[in-house]
Amino acid sequence: MHDLPFVSGQADASSCLVCGACCAAFRVSFYWAEADDGGGTVPHTLTESFHPHLRCMRGTWAPAPRCVALQGEVGQGARCSIYPLRPSPCRALQAGTADCARARARHGLPPLLTGVAAREMTATPS
Ligand code: SF4
Repeated sequence: MHDLPFVSGQADASSCLVCGACCAAFRVSFYWAEADDGGGTVPHTLTESFHPHLRCMRGTWAPAPRCVALQGEVGQGARCSIYPLRPSPCRALQAGTADCARARARHGLPPLLTGVAAREMTATPS
């Protein structure tokens, strides 16, 4: 997520940059050593343990998940405050996938158009 303007109604892949829905939809869990007190990058003060070998981002293990590192409004200018340090699940989740669509739907947002689907939607007939 970066500091790009959000365009109302926009649902192409660039909306991913300010969306944040996936940061407020799932438990974001990972191997404990991804935290900085285990040699990794994620600030451990922003995590909590929920298994002997696993941690999750604080706020994401809740009935209405929202990562403590997420700033701004979902779908309207959200950004990750620890973007370069974020854990592996955040790096793995790709825009336009089923998980992305599920997260966006939780917030009343349409699925993103990516890759072939986006090109097909924007192609002009010859
Ligand atoms: S660490 Fe950043 S990218 Fe990952 S869930 Fe939290 S706000 Fe989102």
